Amino acid sequence: MRYTIVLALLGLGLLAVPGSRSATAAFGVGALQANTSIDRIGTQAISLTGPQPWVTILCKFQDVPDEPHDLAYFQGLFANVYPGLDHYWREVSYDTISLAGSSVVGWYTLPNPKSYYVYDRNGDGIAEHNNDRTATDCTAAADAAIDFTDFYGINLIFNANMNATAIGGSLNRALTLDGKTDFWPMTWVPLSYISQGVIAHEMGHGFRLGDIYVKDLQSASGWGLMGAPCYYGSQRDPLYRCVGLHLNAASKHLLGWIPDELMSIVPVGGTAVITLEQLALPQTNNDLMVRIPINGSDERYYTVEVRHKTGYDNAPIIPGPAVLIHETTILSFSDGRQVPIVELIPVSGTAEPGGAGAMWKPGMTFVDPINRITVAVQTETSSGFVIQVVNSGSSYSVYLPAIYR
Ligand SMILES: [Zn+2]
Repeated sequence: MRYTIVLALLGLGLLAVPGSRSATAAFGVGALQANTSIDRIGTQAISLTGPQPWVTILCKFQDVPDEPHDLAYFQGLFANVYPGLDHYWREVSYDTISLAGSSVVGWYTLPNPKSYYVYDRNGDGIAEHNNDRTATDCTAAADAAIDFTDFYGINLIFNANMNATAIGGSLNRALTLDGKTDFWPMTWVPLSYISQGVIAHEMGHGFRLGDIYVKDLQSASGWGLMGAPCYYGSQRDPLYRCVGLHLNAASKHLLGWIPDELMSIVPVGGTAVITLEQLALPQTNNDLMVRIPINGSDERYYTVEVRHKTGYDNAPIIPGPAVLIHETTILSFSDGRQVPIVELIPVSGTAEPGGAGAMWKPGMTFVDPINRITVAVQTETSSGFVIQVVNSGSSYSVYLPAIYR
C-alpha cells in the first residue's frame, strides 16, 4: 500500500532518484586532510512555527447513511493528549508547532451519491476517486458552519471506502473558500484509512513533505511518519489504530524544527567526531543531526540521526537504538519550486531494508566510494551515539588530464 501525494500540483511524482551508491569503484579515504572541520550554517526551506489549525470535515455520501465515529471520537483524535494529533505534532516538532485552533465539524451529507465521486474515470473498468469533486462538495457542505480563513489546512473524512487510499497534498487548482483563494493543504481519508498514523502522514504532505522510500528500492521506510505509517511495526492504539513515528531529521530541519545550532555540517575536506543525541525526546543539547554535503552540494547531502525507543518512536519497528542515514536530493523546477526527495539508506545486502536492516550500529561503517564519504558508528551513549564522519569529495578529478582540471 502506498500513500500517494496529490502530485499534480507538486508536479513531482514518486520519483526514483538515480542511484549514486555504486558497488563498483572503491577508493580509500587515506588522502583526506587531517583537519577537523564542522560548518553550522544550514539552509531551512520552510519555517513552520506556531499554531497550524486544521479543520476536519466529516462527510457522508448521499446514499450512505453510516456515521462510523461520532464527533467526540474525532475531537480526541486531534487533541493534545496521546495519541492525539495535536500532542503528536507538538512532540515531533519540539513544540515548534501545534494544532491549536483546530476544529472538527460534521457529519454533513454530500449532495450526490457515492457513484458521483467514485467512478470509472479512464475507461479501465475500475472506479477512481475524483478528489476535486469530493473537495468541492465536502468543503461547501461545511461552509456555513466555519470560516476557512481560520485554518491552515483541511482534512476531509468520508464515511465509506472509495476504492482509493488516503491522500494528502493539494488540489491541482486553487480553491476559493470564504474569499481566500489558495492551493489549500488538504487530505482525503476514506473510512478504512481513519487512523492517527495515516491522517498524520497525509497532513505531513499538507506540510509539503514527500514520501520516504528506501534508496534504490520500491519499499517505504518503516522508520518515519512519511514512510509507511501503518504497515510496518507502528504503535497501536485501541481507538485510533496505528500511530505515527517521528519524522526523520532531514524533514524536521527542512521544516525549521531542528535549529542550525543542533546540526553539524561536515564539508568536503572535513573529518569530524560527533556525539549525536536521540531525535525523539532529546535528553542533552548534543547535535540532533549531521549533514554531509555530497561534493559540497546544498542540493544533495546525507543526513545522520539517532533513533531510540522513546515517545512516538517507542514502536515495534525500532528494535533498539540505532543510527540512521538518509540521502536528500533537492529537485529544482523551472518555476522556482524546490522539492526535497529523502531516501533511507539501508545496510548493504540487508534483509529488511526498510526496518531493522537500516540500523547502523557500533563497528559498522557506511561508505560512499564514489563521493568518498564515510560514516563510522563508534560507540553508544546513554541517549545517542558517537560517529566519525569523513567527507573527502569525489576523486574524479584525479583521473582527468591536467588540461581539464
Ligand atoms: Zn504519502
